[in-house]
Amino acid sequence: MLTLNKFYIDGAWVNPASSATMPIMNPATNSQIGTVSMGNAKDVDRAVAAAKRAFETFSLTSKNERLALLQKLRIETVARLEDLATAMTSEMGAPATMSLEVQAHSGLGHLDDFITALKQMEDEETLPNGDILSREPIGVCGLITPWNWPINQIALKVIPALATGSTCILKPSEHTPISAQIYAEIVDAAGYPAGVFNLVQGDGIAVGSAMSRHPDIDMMSFTGSTRAGTAVSKDAADSIKRVTLELGGKSPNLVFADADLNKRVKESVEGCFYNTGQSCNAPTRLLVERSCYDNVLTLAKTAAEAQKVGDPTSIGDHIGPVFDKIQYDRVQAMIQVGIDEGARLLVGGLGKPDGLENGWYVKPTIFCDVDHNMRISREEIFGPVLVITPFDTEEEAIAMANDTEYGLAAYVQSGDATRVARVVRRLRAGTIQINGRGPDYGSPFGGYKRSGNGREGGTFGLEEYLEIKVRPPFLT
Ligand code: NAD
Repeated sequence: MLTLNKFYIDGAWVNPASSATMPIMNPATNSQIGTVSMGNAKDVDRAVAAAKRAFETFSLTSKNERLALLQKLRIETVARLEDLATAMTSEMGAPATMSLEVQAHSGLGHLDDFITALKQMEDEETLPNGDILSREPIGVCGLITPWNWPINQIALKVIPALATGSTCILKPSEHTPISAQIYAEIVDAAGYPAGVFNLVQGDGIAVGSAMSRHPDIDMMSFTGSTRAGTAVSKDAADSIKRVTLELGGKSPNLVFADADLNKRVKESVEGCFYNTGQSCNAPTRLLVERSCYDNVLTLAKTAAEAQKVGDPTSIGDHIGPVFDKIQYDRVQAMIQVGIDEGARLLVGGLGKPDGLENGWYVKPTIFCDVDHNMRISREEIFGPVLVITPFDTEEEAIAMANDTEYGLAAYVQSGDATRVARVVRRLRAGTIQINGRGPDYGSPFGGYKRSGNGREGGTFGLEEYLEIKVRPPFLT
């Protein structure tokens, strides 16, 4: 049994202010694998004071000094990739192969692109009017991350803070504390000065809210639900700090009859089920041109029935359980909603797959003939549940795609480049994937509307952590 009973503050592993703890659960076995200490406002005060002190000197480091530290961070990350993957498999159920090759590796992919972006970024530039613009670190940053892509989200926030000369306090999801603790060990081993990076474990109410309200935190970067993102914004309002939000999604996937249907439908279904449907940008609404609707249903059914579900510790391309009982119950409730709303169940449904009764496993599920106004078409389900809706015209497809409170991602499947360009221009979403290809590491990631504000990754991700200063050229 693992006991995570220290926080990383001011360059040392220290005792939390309170003795409160929370069990760490394995979703594949529904058994307890450890306990984590839960922080409170006193721990936040201590971490913020350390980060504020450290900012005095770390903010004055040169780009080359910070690049050298990032290279050390890279070496330490490589050394711990397997530990990160094992941790995520046990604490949130990411299957072993994907946990190593994608979840853990994202810590490296983002790091490499932030290094490239930092090298290219000028500290100073002369504006067309002759004034001089300089980029400076924003200050003390509060970073709050979710459980579904634990290291991906941590990397997207911690690395740009460190790269720009800001200092930070990370509060990871209380459900995935093990990978976060390993990441803190990685930063420690990389040799960052005391107080530059701090880790406080705990929940949103006690720790997250104390961070958002803290007068000495200059910026909050939050990834999670739209509900919690709203709370962060309200808590942060009194201190006028910068708030960037990466929130939920219900992303449309437009399938036109001129697409390579055999390939595109299979990949679309697998894309929805990837990470057991627990991705903010999952293509969860398949909008299908009516002339190929029956064909697509057949292909989608075949793909879903072929989707393997199993033990996340096994090597392979199967999907694992959803991450806890609350999520399992929520997904089951939404499947029941779909049945009650009169959508046609094409594959899957209520209950657990045969032979997987112990963990929080869900049957890969597809509803078809879904009315766009049904709740299953409008609300984020966050499980392996796809809804399929037919459309008659391109215009109708675009209108349905955009008729959502979210705007994180959108997907287009079509063999016609002119059509794709026309449709993409009108989709209100921050990331577009075309015929199975999405943007790579280094491209900005973020959403329109209630999917958030701000962008993470690469140059845009660095800019979020920078203040802009202008001055005239020196003249006597
Ligand atoms: P969540 O909102 O419950 O929790 C996310 C984080 O916020 C956790 O660390 C939690 O402790 C903290 N938190 C909760 N309430 C808070 C509050 N009032 N103040 C401050 N912090 C608070 O979300 P989750 O269940 O961990 O993650 C799933 C959600 O995250 C989904 O909606 C998903 O779409 C979204 N997500 C978005 C992105 C993106 O980049 N847009 C990426 C991953 C996940």
